[in-house]
Amino acid sequence: MTNVIVLGGGISGCVCAYRLARSGFGVTLVEKGRGVGGRMATRRMGDARIDHGAQFFTARDPRLKSLLSDWEKDAVVRPWYDSIAGRPDIPTGTRYRGGEGMTSPAKFLARSFQVEKSFFVDKIVRSEQWSVVERMGENRVLKADHLVVTFPGPQVVELFDRSDFSLDAETMDRLKAIRYTRCIALLGLLAGPSALESPGTVTHPNADVDWVSDNQIKGISEQPACTVHASDEFSQKHWDSPDEVRGPYLTKVAEETLGTKVTDWNCHRWGFAKPLVTFGADYFHSAEQSVTLAGDGFGGERIESAFLSGWEAAERIVRNP
Ligand SMILES: Cc1cc2nc3c(=O)[nH]c(=O)nc-3n(C[C@H](O)[C@H](O)[C@H](O)COP(=O)(O)OP(=O)(O)OC[C@H]3O[C@@H](n4cnc5c(N)ncnc54)[C@H](O)[C@@H]3O)c2cc1C
Repeated sequence: MTNVIVLGGGISGCVCAYRLARSGFGVTLVEKGRGVGGRMATRRMGDARIDHGAQFFTARDPRLKSLLSDWEKDAVVRPWYDSIAGRPDIPTGTRYRGGEGMTSPAKFLARSFQVEKSFFVDKIVRSEQWSVVERMGENRVLKADHLVVTFPGPQVVELFDRSDFSLDAETMDRLKAIRYTRCIALLGLLAGPSALESPGTVTHPNADVDWVSDNQIKGISEQPACTVHASDEFSQKHWDSPDEVRGPYLTKVAEETLGTKVTDWNCHRWGFAKPLVTFGADYFHSAEQSVTLAGDGFGGERIESAFLSGWEAAERIVRNP
């Protein structure tokens, strides 16, 4: 049996690991966070549950649709909305949310393979097999025949640099060209129900903010709680500002948009939000070097594209590890 280690527990890593496990591979997924999901992230704040990364996903591809019908039966995902009243400019098409927040699908997939959590991958070393070495923590070292890396492109390059590992020059150039937007997210508790109607979201209330939503109307939080996503431009400008500078401004936009007070808030920085420049292929695979790369830096912006990147990478490995 071929053993594979998948690095990164976002949707691309989880779906890749799931697809490989289903084909009889021995799979271990390694994630630096305390749980899987990556940018499909849900956080508790007081009694509220808040999606602070990706907000919804679309499902047009038959492979995702087929998994989605299983997920819907188990309430792992639910349809959220397909249009917003008074916004004919927003394309129609069902947007799905996780049953208990956006991490739900990744958590569900992760029941099919072994997960090593809170494991920051410091180095990868290739001799007869791959070794994956943890930074600090429990000093874990894992071994496998094949390696899949699903970090955002710049983090893959950093890992290769730390490991003195390289691919051919053209591939490295394409990998180094991958670029992302940034996003400062504000997560807030609300004094009372917001004034929004279902689906509980407003896009672009002004030039600094891309998104404001109420997680209670969304259906994932018992307590009213908001998510605010600043634009890339605002996020770049205020990346290193203290929370005391950027927080009150984003809070004010939330209060004006939602018609209620924000009683407590936190800021979160997404350094790699959405890919601006991608690798130019849905995944990279080298049978000679026993390594495959996937993720939204390959498949492109959106959860569905990251999903398909992970899925297709797995199918390539199944054909010829
Ligand atoms: C604020 C925001 C809003 C978004 N909104 C939407 C939306 O509404 N709809 C949509 O379709 N898409 C949205 N996106 C984009 C979407 O979230 C991503 O395209 C998708 O989730 C990427 O999945 P991935 O598996 O490629 O990467 P990730 O989810 O980033 O997974 C990579 C994983 O690798 C782990 N990792 C990195 N380095 C290490 C290391 N050294 N050791 C161990 N683990 C490591 C990370 O912790 C992470 O879990 C949004 C993104 C952001 C940030």
